[in-house]
Amino acid sequence: MDLKDLLNTTFDCECGRSHDVPIRNLVYAEDALERLPKILGSFVDGRRVVLVADQRTWAIAGEGARQVLEHKGWSVNHIIVPDTERGGPVCDDTTHAWLNSKLPAADIALAVGCGVINDLTKWLAFDRDLPYAVVATAATMNGFAASNVAPALKGVKTILSARPPLAVFAIPSVITNAPFELTAAGLGDTIAKPISTADWILNHIFNDEYFCRYCSEIINTLEPYYFDRAEDIKKRQPAAIEALFDALLYSGIAMTIVGTSAPASGGEHLLSHTLDMMSSIDGVAHDLHGRQVGLGTLFASAIYDRIFQVEPPRCYPLPPDIDRVFWGRLAASVGQQYEQKKPMLQTIREKLTDGKTWRAFLAACRQQVRSPHQIKNCLRTAGAAHTFADIGCSRERLLAAILHMHEIRTRPTVIDLAWILGILPGAADEIIDRWLTDEGAPVGAEGEEKRDNPQGL
Ligand SMILES: [Zn+2]
Ligand SMILES: [Zn+2]
Repeated sequence: MDLKDLLNTTFDCECGRSHDVPIRNLVYAEDALERLPKILGSFVDGRRVVLVADQRTWAIAGEGARQVLEHKGWSVNHIIVPDTERGGPVCDDTTHAWLNSKLPAADIALAVGCGVINDLTKWLAFDRDLPYAVVATAATMNGFAASNVAPALKGVKTILSARPPLAVFAIPSVITNAPFELTAAGLGDTIAKPISTADWILNHIFNDEYFCRYCSEIINTLEPYYFDRAEDIKKRQPAAIEALFDALLYSGIAMTIVGTSAPASGGEHLLSHTLDMMSSIDGVAHDLHGRQVGLGTLFASAIYDRIFQVEPPRCYPLPPDIDRVFWGRLAASVGQQYEQKKPMLQTIREKLTDGKTWRAFLAACRQQVRSPHQIKNCLRTAGAAHTFADIGCSRERLLAAILHMHEIRTRPTVIDLAWILGILPGAADEIIDRWLTDEGAPVGAEGEEKRDNPQGL
């Protein structure tokens, strides 16, 4: 599978759908900025661009992009999204409204930055029916090439549909020399993808969710790009950083192809979303998306490990409602989402009694999921966050997040399955102590099981 062939294509897939990749250019080159005028000029007739950045990314690449574009006769307006009290800008309804009020007339939008700046620009460009492109400044998350946006609406993390950029630009020396915690966060986000895909398989098997094998294979094809290069990523070896960047981009493209976040976001992501939401309730700072997702991946992998040992499956009663005291002012919207999920949880319970379905699930997901030992080893070797202390979170806060994360969102994940099978809440403490601390399992102590061939469904 040569992934570059995917760009700017529409094709009929074996899954029965026609897939569309509207992203036309990926430019990973030292002269990426110099190529902006020609490539942006190939997308639109007008020469008015609105450039969106934050203070840091403006200095890193925004100002340079403006100079190059103006030099070639473009009219460039720029908007610097202000930092918040707790750090960099955030992607939420308030910032969106602010940006909307500032947006001048333009032919194309250009985001210069990472997750938040890219999401804000993508969201606004979609609202205004404006083409957009992005200059990425770090390999920190996989939203660059994705069609969706993940804002907080009234404090609740949500997924909105939008359109992917027409082009992604990146300067290798900028990506390689970005603050290392950003790159390590990128690894945390990308290491999640095979396990997100396992949750997709779970939903396909138990809830007849649409599944595309071709897309799941994109995710699996990407794994060796980063998984086997943890040491090189730590050393910021340019080829390893480029491979990580590619893995992030193409997992975003996989989401664009299927039109949902299913191949790249499952139960492991809920830990990060929940920590973010707790932060919006009590004001305690949270860490970067990818750093939290790395821990979520470790947890979800340990949960899968336990599920694989269950035989035969037995269903336990679920709490009738979400924990409204815990969610405070977010309780109504969290509760609404949970209600939508309930019928699907009931379907899982019913199908669990069917041995054939259970065995199909085990066979497919055993092939798909790395062991927690392997995940921990990769994160630790790369210098990425792998303990709750690493993400600046107390054990108590992490446990609270873990015990409530299945209550958000409308789609079942492996975390729900663990509750249904009675693995949670009981196993949470043990998994935290074994896998999410530094005293946990020693590196190199266990066999390197896991698939050597991609899963087949
Ligand atoms: Zn993510
Ligand atoms: Zn397909």
